[in-house]
Amino acid sequence: MLKIEHIGMAVKDLSVSIPLFEKLLNTPCYKTETVDSENVNTAFFQKGDSKIELLESIDPDGVIARFIEKKGEGMHHIAFEVADIKAEMDRLVKEGFVLLNTEPKKGADNKLVCFLHPKGTNGVLVELCEEMK
Ligand code: ZN
Repeated sequence: MLKIEHIGMAVKDLSVSIPLFEKLLNTPCYKTETVDSENVNTAFFQKGDSKIELLESIDPDGVIARFIEKKGEGMHHIAFEVADIKAEMDRLVKEGFVLLNTEPKKGADNKLVCFLHPKGTNGVLVELCEEMK
């Protein structure tokens, strides 16, 4: 793993949370993107080398909607940048971690992503991401 790439926050309504985070971070949202595979709308902010990703559910039964129902809005996942996502997935499986997807999938912000089951990571949902060339 190279570094923390971004922190993902589950929010109910991007039209409320984008201006909120613009004020909080004192920086404009640089990208919004719909990720069909996850049924979410996303919005990104960057401060220095660090990014924040806001996630809003499109589907009332989607993973983000269910997360907010259970835990409320807030921190959803931590994403680590990796140089070779396949190699990192293989390494983590050998270490006993459970992956939520067995093949990397296309995520937001031009990334290949894979999530780890939070049961194996002290309750933290971990995302691996590799920049697509
Ligand atoms: Zn993410």
